[in-house]
Formats: sequence, structure tokens, C-alpha cells
Amino acid sequence: VDPLVVANWKMNGSEQLLQAVVQQVDGLAEATSATVVLALPAAYLSLTKAFDNTQIEWAGQNVHWLTSGAYTGEVSATMLAELGVGWCLVGHSERRQHCAETDDMVLAKTKACLELGIRPIVCVGENLQERQAGKALEVVSRQLLVVLKDIPSALAPLIVVAYEPVWAIGTGEEASPEIAQEVHEALKHAARSEVKALELRVLYGGSVNEDNVKTLMSMPDVDGVLVGGASLEALGFRRICEQVAGSV
Ligand code: PEP
Repeated sequence: VDPLVVANWKMNGSEQLLQAVVQQVDGLAEATSATVVLALPAAYLSLTKAFDNTQIEWAGQNVHWLTSGAYTGEVSATMLAELGVGWCLVGHSERRQHCAETDDMVLAKTKACLELGIRPIVCVGENLQERQAGKALEVVSRQLLVVLKDIPSALAPLIVVAYEPVWAIGTGEEASPEIAQEVHEALKHAARSEVKALELRVLYGGSVNEDNVKTLMSMPDVDGVLVGGASLEALGFRRICEQVAGSV
């Protein structure tokens, strides 16, 4: 499968940055096998219509599990689908932490995406305490299985998982390639225990940059990357995409 690069802008960016990033990475996505997805703040997603002629794909950063209603500030999967958004981050650790998103909410959001044909990028990851207690694999497997146990197995191949150790997000301290490999392998194993023969794609996220991406991508079970901070600089992000594309 082609490698995947997902940029997570979080609550950052501008129309100008969108222009610059598209300019840098569009030709690249066309010329290589890598798929480039930009997860933009909801406010910018309607701007992506102007880039329909590019190879770039778009993601929401969050979605509500209901299709409409009295939920001020929320965005539904129906709305994302209407804008032609093909992907959505679900259960990012910042939402689990700051917006009290539970595993059950992550499941409901994943289902809402799948119903509309939006591919969920389900984020899992242990925090530092959990890692130090030797519970990393247990935590990420639980977060993944909550989702896989409750969706139709036929839809499971649409899900992509992002392993994002909380201690590596925005800290400049990426997981070692060995740690990433160990966790990705465990996630794929757990996935197959639930959905037979599932070829789960697992991205690594957490302080990915142009200097460490190549080594991370060299691990057999790292199928792509989710890039936060380093996706906010157009040329640097291009260099990351180039290296991911060159890794296959
Ligand atoms: C993220 O939050 O999805 C992320 C990967 O952030 P960063 O690359 O900045 O660590």
C-alpha cells in the first residue's frame, strides 16, 4: 500500500499557508505514490474546493457523532462529506485530554464517519505514566479494539490508525524507531485478532520532522506519518513528503 502523510495543523494556519502548502506538495503527490492528506481547522475546509484539481486529500480534525442538532460549535460528518472531505482525525489525544473524549465517543465518531464514507484516522497512544508502568501496548490495543469490536468488519479496512504517544506530541522527543515498530506490530496483531486478515495501516505521529522521518519510515510496520508542528512550514513539509514518498 502507498505510504500516507497526514498534516495535522491543529488550531494553526491561515489561507496563505494553505496556498503555500498546496503549491509545494501538489506536484509531488502527483509524481509519487505517496498520498498527502491535510487535516485543516474546520474553518478552512470549505476553501479546499478551490483545490479540487489537485491530488491533495482533505481531513477534518474532529467530527460529532450526530448528523445535526443543538450542538453549538460542532461539525457533522454530513457537513464534511458535503465539502468533499474524505478523511477525519478521530480521538486525537488533545481532544481526549482537553475535551474529555472517551473511547465510546471515539467509537461513535468513527461510526459516523464510516456511514458517510469518510475514512477515520483513529488516534491512539499512551501517556508517559502509562509507558513507564509498562502499559503502553495494553492501552493502545484497548483504544483500537473498542473501535474494531463494534463496527462491521467489512468497513474495518477503511480505518487508518495513528500511533501517537502522548509524551512525543509537540515535545521534540519522537519515539525511537524501535518503539514505533514494536507498537505498530502489536496494533496490527491486535487488529487481526478481531478482524481476520485485516491489513491495518498504522501511521506514526509525535515530533516527526525532516530529520527523523526517514528512519521512522524505514521500519517495516510504519506505513506513514502524522505530522503536527512540522507541517506548518510549506517547504519543510514538502521535504517530509518527499522522504516518505522515497521510502517505498
Ligand atoms: C499531532 O499532534 O498529531 C502531532 C503529530 O504533533 P507534533 O508533530 O507537533 O508532535
